Amino acid sequence: MVDRAVVDVLFPSELPEPEYWEGQYPVRELPEGAKVTRFGPSPTGFVHIGGIYTAMIDRDVATDSKGVYLVRVEDTDQAREVEGALEQFDRAFSYFRISSDEDRRQGSYGPYVQSQREQIYLTFVRHLLRQGKAYLCFATKDELADITARQQAAKVPTGYYGKYALWRNADPADVQAKLDEGVPYVVRFRAPDDADGQRTSFVDAIRGRLEHEANRNDAVILKSSDQSPRLPTYHFAHAVDDHLMRVNLVIRGDEWISSVPLHQQLFAALEFEPITYAHVAPLMKQIPGGKRKLSKRKDPEAGVDFYIGAGYPADAVLYYLRGLANGRLAEMPLADALTTPIDLAQCGVAGPLVDLVKLEDISADYIATLSGQQILDAVRVWATEYDAELVPVLDTEKELALRALAVERDGVENPRKDLRKWSDFRSAYGFFFTELFVPVDGPTDERLVPLGVASDVTTAFAADLVAGYEHREDPQEWFDQIRSLAAKHGFAPNAKEYKKDPDAYAGSIREASQLVRVAITGATRSPDLHATAQALGAPEVLRRLQALIGK
Ligand code: GLU
Repeated sequence: MVDRAVVDVLFPSELPEPEYWEGQYPVRELPEGAKVTRFGPSPTGFVHIGGIYTAMIDRDVATDSKGVYLVRVEDTDQAREVEGALEQFDRAFSYFRISSDEDRRQGSYGPYVQSQREQIYLTFVRHLLRQGKAYLCFATKDELADITARQQAAKVPTGYYGKYALWRNADPADVQAKLDEGVPYVVRFRAPDDADGQRTSFVDAIRGRLEHEANRNDAVILKSSDQSPRLPTYHFAHAVDDHLMRVNLVIRGDEWISSVPLHQQLFAALEFEPITYAHVAPLMKQIPGGKRKLSKRKDPEAGVDFYIGAGYPADAVLYYLRGLANGRLAEMPLADALTTPIDLAQCGVAGPLVDLVKLEDISADYIATLSGQQILDAVRVWATEYDAELVPVLDTEKELALRALAVERDGVENPRKDLRKWSDFRSAYGFFFTELFVPVDGPTDERLVPLGVASDVTTAFAADLVAGYEHREDPQEWFDQIRSLAAKHGFAPNAKEYKKDPDAYAGSIREASQLVRVAITGATRSPDLHATAQALGAPEVLRRLQALIGK
């Protein structure tokens, strides 16, 4: 039996007993069937879209069951921690509406940052040590490497177990000697003696019954004693935190499935109620000849900043992700899909493909349902962070912006789908604004070259147009002035006539209209030209046409 006094001197004397923490964090009073879920991001400075996906499921399942969803910052790997990561979480989580029901600064089951929970972990480590369910291990890096090498040579599973576990059954005198020398140690969990060769099973809320070999590895539960704060490993923190935060459904990535046998043993050793798991399949990417997990290193679209930075509306992204989680939600209109709960049992076990083209289509369809005002508001919010130069333009030219957005949007059955994300605003509508528009530089401007109209013709045609320009509200009348001037300046009335005898004409009416289009919009493709001219107003249209004439 372990000498309690030897264990206790390793811990602060005022360290509470497990009962204290159990009392601090009582069983939650929630309706029958309520799920308490959590999302455990690590502050590494990178938020994976797969994390948002999992958290969205967490949030949904909790809310739908009248339970609680919380976010717990998992920062036990302090070497990987990055400055500013928590602010990044706040921004990303509020964008995708997955902020915690219990805030990390306050909330009855906190602290919600693992590095602030040292005392709690130490209580439970001491508790296991006192019972002999955990032990101190002084094995050095070299000794561990040697164990692995011998196991590989013997073709047996690698790990710290059985006869390889140097300190599992150490003589207390040897332990004391190391402690007296001040040698740092880790604390390992003592896997049950009978685990070898056993199998264990559990029911996963997504995958059904799963069977695995029981764990026989003496996993590290508390990291090295020469570090401060003394932090647990993921496995131990998971057991203690999810128990004390009264989480009853752990939804997490499927890379943790193989750890469930260890987690089951930890829960049993700690005498905690077993917990239900749901292991979510990872988001995948199509690559030539197959698919692979979306990779933080290789794929920009793996990071949440990709979506927020480009300004994909949260609703469109969430709609897309919900459809990946439950195929039937992809069949519903957006508003229904956002409010119909995700069903864990309908989540696939194969990782779904993230297809950005599909997302862009969804996003364009979604934006097309918004009013100009809603779009303008959203673009402005996005621009404050990502396109500061655009903000004053939108603010001083608010009316123009609304007129611009109204072109082929207001009162039409099929509004323009020219915005897939807020960052498209500049390329789609930037030309409306004097501050952002670059007028053509005379008849030889390179944007006019592809039209193939001789520059003296362009100049004469433009000069005539400017001289007699009529800003007609009626599209027909407005175009008629261009048509008649085109005829006067030697453009064929239609493409067919022109093709019959190209040498006889300066171009066709198409080229003449394109001269006007490029002058007014800067491009050969644009929203309806007459509506655009109306939105710009006569003085600005004239100014732009003037630029065609040149010096
Ligand atoms: N911090 C863990 C991770 O980043 C969380 C896993 C879990 O949800 O339990 O993968």
